[in-house]
Amino acid sequence: MAFLGNPSVTGATLEKYGIRAQKKYGQNFLIDGNVLERIVEISGVNKEDLVLEIGPGLGTLTQMLCEKAGRVVAVEIDKKLMPVLEDTLSGYDNLTLINDDILKCDLYELLKNAEDFSSIKVVANLPYYITTPVLMYILESGCPFESVTVMIQKEVAERIKAEPSTKEYGSLSLAVRYYSDPVVALQVAPSCFVPRPNVGSVVLRLGIYREKPVAVKDQDLMFRLIRGSFNQRRKTLVNGLKNYAGLNLSKEQIEDAIEKLGKKPSVRGEELTLSEFARLADILT
Ligand code: SAM
Repeated sequence: MAFLGNPSVTGATLEKYGIRAQKKYGQNFLIDGNVLERIVEISGVNKEDLVLEIGPGLGTLTQMLCEKAGRVVAVEIDKKLMPVLEDTLSGYDNLTLINDDILKCDLYELLKNAEDFSSIKVVANLPYYITTPVLMYILESGCPFESVTVMIQKEVAERIKAEPSTKEYGSLSLAVRYYSDPVVALQVAPSCFVPRPNVGSVVLRLGIYREKPVAVKDQDLMFRLIRGSFNQRRKTLVNGLKNYAGLNLSKEQIEDAIEKLGKKPSVRGEELTLSEFARLADILT
């Protein structure tokens, strides 16, 4: 089986099938063999693993995953790529190809044979236009993923890794850190893709927590507080939460809770850490 991850094979494959990269699906195909090898290495995938790949594209990363993993389930939205994938990956009997939108898939149903494997890992070069919804869909699914290794836009990784009181800090930083420990493992230049994206990329590895890093009585309330705080981030926490439709809290209730949290009345939501949001939710529960 020819190795797909290089410029000439990718070019020849696109030409053979008369395929053009579709911007609307965020198609930027990886053509750098070293980067592909590093992604698989960072993911730590082995024969004991069931791997979920989102957006196999031409099958480049999928091919390497099939070599290393016990089984790969790959979900691709673009119907035109299915004959290409069936051809390029015909040599692998440990692959299930699905033509669907990952955000419409029941992940439990997709991974129903998971008990045959010691762990489930997500590995993907994500379509950048839906990075945040896909990450949240995976994290909130409750599926027992061990890790998520994804190529994403550099700016999104910066938001995920941001600390309180910075302009990048927000709901995404808090949500991802509630579920996982994010590590930026590799910087990737636009020249490693065809067509070249006009943004920098990184490989981010999320080690999923078995136990959440903070205890909170009402997780849903905590996330509504987080969304309310960053909905109008220039406002104080009191005003942000008071005006947020998803909460229905009076000014007095919020001021009282902030005082119990030991914060000044003028505190902004962007100053609070994850454990402070958890405590605030517990006070308001
Ligand atoms: N894995 C390939 C590679 O590394 O060369 C392609 C990566 S490309 C950045 C993103 C892939 O995700 C494309 O193949 C695109 O068609 C697919 N995709 C986009 N939206 C999707 C969705 N909602 N569900 C599943 N796949 C999607």
